[in-house]
Amino acid sequence: MRVDHCSRCGEHIASDEIRYIVGVQVTLDLDGFQGGVESAYEIAERLNAKQSCDESLSEVFSREMVFTLCKHCRDGFVDNPLGRQERLLCPDLGFIH
Ligand SMILES: [Zn+2]
Repeated sequence: MRVDHCSRCGEHIASDEIRYIVGVQVTLDLDGFQGGVESAYEIAERLNAKQSCDESLSEVFSREMVFTLCKHCRDGFVDNPLGRQERLLCPDLGFIH
């Protein structure tokens, strides 16, 4: 299904305007986790049980999202994908280019 509104600002994107698709995958990082996969699973299960959200346990481990962005919102996303404050916009603080 072709989306005709920007997921961020809600503006209509006409069929003759460019649009961008942004895919985000958020995955639990088990690389180097000392307790092993089973321990990470138990921790994630406990944390998920404490939260009163609709997120399933599998989504706690990995979640994929897809958004449609207009050109303006695409530019803002690329400049600062995490919405960080300006003083934190430093490659040494976690951005992978
Ligand atoms: Zn937009």
